[in-house]
Amino acid sequence: MIGQTVGNYKVTHLLGEGGMGIVYLAEHPVIGRKVAIKVLHISLSRDADIVARFFNEARAIHMIGHENIVEILDFGQTPDGQPYFIMEYLTGESLNDRVQRGPMPAAEVAHVADQICQALSMAHEKGIVHRDLKPHNVQLLTASNGSIHVKLLDFGVAKIMTSQEGGQSVKTRTGSLMGTPLYMSPEQCKGAGKLDHRTDIYSLGVMLYEMLAGQPPFNAEGVGELFAMHMLEKPPELLQFAPDTPPHMARAVMRSLAKNLDDRYANMEEFRTALLGDMFPSTPERTNIRSVSVRPTGTVVPSNLTLPPASTTMSSASSEIEDDFAPRRNRSGLAIVAVALVAAGVVAAIFIRKSSSEVSPPPGREQAVPTPPPTPPPKPAEPETVTIRFEAEPAGVHVVRASDDHDLGPVPVELKLPRDGGKPEFLFQLEGYKDKTLTADLSRDRTLHVSLHKEPTAAPPAPVVAPTPVSPPAETRKRSTPRPSRRTRIAPDEDGLATPNF
Ligand code: ADP
Ligand code: MG
Repeated sequence: MIGQTVGNYKVTHLLGEGGMGIVYLAEHPVIGRKVAIKVLHISLSRDADIVARFFNEARAIHMIGHENIVEILDFGQTPDGQPYFIMEYLTGESLNDRVQRGPMPAAEVAHVADQICQALSMAHEKGIVHRDLKPHNVQLLTASNGSIHVKLLDFGVAKIMTSQEGGQSVKTRTGSLMGTPLYMSPEQCKGAGKLDHRTDIYSLGVMLYEMLAGQPPFNAEGVGELFAMHMLEKPPELLQFAPDTPPHMARAVMRSLAKNLDDRYANMEEFRTALLGDMFPSTPERTNIRSVSVRPTGTVVPSNLTLPPASTTMSSASSEIEDDFAPRRNRSGLAIVAVALVAAGVVAAIFIRKSSSEVSPPPGREQAVPTPPPTPPPKPAEPETVTIRFEAEPAGVHVVRASDDHDLGPVPVELKLPRDGGKPEFLFQLEGYKDKTLTADLSRDRTLHVSLHKEPTAAPPAPVVAPTPVSPPAETRKRSTPRPSRRTRIAPDEDGLATPNF
């Protein structure tokens, strides 16, 4: 690709390579603007499902539209049929490189965590779960005032991992699409289909632990061992490795690592508030996540917080697979007493370890950092109804209420439903495409987005995703022309929370 023109930009360098594509640096020949172009691997370009998901990544990022998520500028296909999308070019260093240089001070961690949590809050609000959070996918830019500005990358990998169709060949090709065992949640390790936003809370917890302690909570030689640790082993107390961490922050990180979903924070905003405590006194009330996200992050940067000189390019990700799967550090003191187990078809070993998690913080520690978590701001009275919006592609997908087979019309469809009125199922149908079922969680407003894939019999031309035409919200109405109900054939999509089908 080097030397070729893609879109209006001339490709100049290779920036990195991940599981799905190759990322190049390119420059506008007249204006001189630099951009990053992610081109889908040529071998994957013939798979219509993967092509659709590749564009879904771009679409999801655009849907979230947050200052802490890489911006998408354009997408298209090269003359020889390789799909690509164009992003803003990010300089700085990856969080992975930063963590390799040693533990980060709590104030710096708070500043980075604040921005990651805000970006993910917004993503979750829109029904999008990242599912592949790891330091490689976080870029740290240095703002003109010396403060760190965080950008999240790579919203495309994890969903492919859970894909039943077409995912296998991708997994086999690189391995990296499995996710990264160091940061995988217990439910991901189990291979459970039910992944919701709390999987991101866990993975972020692992990252924060590593940022503070200089080592992740779990580390082992083999993938199976790591899986077993995530699923079964209690993480060692963070304060043992990072005694200077403010206690409220250490408690928040430890809670995010709970095995049981319900024992973690219910959402990113709760996690963020617990992590920061009163470290950011200028933070406005956060009853509305959207308004929070536009708060200029520079205003809360501790004045002494600067990054070392930024490198001009990001590190290549070509060695990512090996790096990710091999433990970076061996934790000493890990006493393995027993090994054996098979879980969900994955060979996993149970590690029983002399628990070091009961170690108390050094005496006087609690007194040294008197930063109790603030009382949360009073919640406004919650409305009685929630708005559930359905989006789907391709255009023309119908939403059908499963309980009575009512066709709610083509997407986009918006419904106002009683808050916490059960977990109704909805069906997404389009002739020639495989149906999908989603369960709507009515605890708050949500946008549920799905992509339907062609029935295997249909010969799929490589799709270039066309923007979904916006039609007015459909009213709830009985289907006029009965569509053949295929509900008996489809396995319910267990994802629960709707996610773009990356
Ligand atoms: P994949 O889904 O294939 O893992 P990523 O989105 O993670 O792809 O990108 C692969 C690598 O390319 C990243 O780890 C990073 O080094 C580099 N990269 C990705 N996006 C950008 C960007 N916008 N600016 C600069 N480098 C980038
Ligand atoms: Mg990546």
